[in-house]
Amino acid sequence: MDIKLKAGDIRNDLVKRVEELSGQNVFSCYQCGKCSAGCPSVPFMELLPNQVMRLLQFGQVERILQSNTHWVCASCFVCSTRCPKGIDIAAIMEALRQIELRKNQDRINIWSIDAKKREELPAIAIVSAYRKLTA
Ligand code: SF4
Ligand code: SF4
Repeated sequence: MDIKLKAGDIRNDLVKRVEELSGQNVFSCYQCGKCSAGCPSVPFMELLPNQVMRLLQFGQVERILQSNTHWVCASCFVCSTRCPKGIDIAAIMEALRQIELRKNQDRINIWSIDAKKREELPAIAIVSAYRKLTA
């Protein structure tokens, strides 16, 4: 990972927000990698769960938010049950999603999907996308 730090990056406001929303101390992580080793979504993630933790420790929240990791996370809690430091990484992923969702930005426009494909989509997929990706 190429990390460039500026003064005030460590435990900046966004890191404090993640800690507040998740109730976790991101500085407890000692990079054992057990969270990533057990995560079933890793093949689809741009950053691994332990890399998310490391970036949080360096105050690089925006960099995490630019990745797909917190959206790909399936909230299965494997990481949280495996962490030897008792960190609830799933709660941290949820906090990252909440920070994005609270920006009130819609991330899908259902009408941009081809009409035929829209008819074929399972209703639950549309409802789920609206719940997860719209403000
Ligand atoms: S909760 Fe998310 S990050 Fe943790 S193991 Fe499951 S998919 Fe991976
Ligand atoms: S399992 Fe826990 S201590 Fe290990 S890398 Fe993941 S968050 Fe850090």
